[in-house]
Amino acid sequence: MITIALSKGRIFEETLPLLKAAGIMPLEDPESSRKLILPTNRADVRLIIVRASDVPTYVQYGAADLGVAGKDVLNEHGGTGLYQPLDLNIARCRMMVAVRDDFDYSLAVRQGARLRVATKYVQTAREHFAAKGVHVDLIKLYGSMELAPLVGLSDAIVDLVSSGNTLKANHLRAVEEISAISSRLIVNQASLKLKRTVIQPMLDAFERAIVA
Ligand code: ATP
Ligand code: MG
Repeated sequence: MITIALSKGRIFEETLPLLKAAGIMPLEDPESSRKLILPTNRADVRLIIVRASDVPTYVQYGAADLGVAGKDVLNEHGGTGLYQPLDLNIARCRMMVAVRDDFDYSLAVRQGARLRVATKYVQTAREHFAAKGVHVDLIKLYGSMELAPLVGLSDAIVDLVSSGNTLKANHLRAVEEISAISSRLIVNQASLKLKRTVIQPMLDAFERAIVA
């Protein structure tokens, strides 16, 4: 049995065509089904539906053989026990630093001010500001980072941005790009060795189906 871990929403939607190219079709839709384990047209392949940030954990421990996870999530997880053979080029966005419209970020940085930064991506933020030599106090949040600077919780946020409309609607502006983000295929390292004859053709089919 091959178990593939996916999260609901954009990752599931954007992974579907790749699965199809490998001859794998789910028999139920996770948006309407309450099942967390979804059978597919292939008796030897099943999907499990987990939180986006939990995908690397299921694959790391071998509870899933394969998974699809954003680079943002992988950076926070650390990647231990995971093989990352393919950038699927889906769920693309950017990891950015954003501040209130009226906050002079570059001045604060030049003055060496200690910045309060709210984010779900603590590891990413720590690495970014350490590399810049900017001192920060990191405040861990689990969602709606955009609110933090508006109510004085932080000076800045580190968050994913795609269109920028949410920032604009909340009088925030992006001041720095940390990295481009897309989703990667991740594979349990032991699974790849033990189930190579089944997994390798899947990897080949995904690779052929990736839209550049
Ligand atoms: P949860 O909803 O469980 O808290 P999440 O918000 O990170 O987790 P999704 O919104 O489904 O989950 O995002 C899944 C992945 O898609 C993210 O890890 C990221 O890589 C990518 N992503 C997030 N926001 C965007 C966006 N606006 N545009 C494109 N890709 C995005
Ligand atoms: Mg979400």
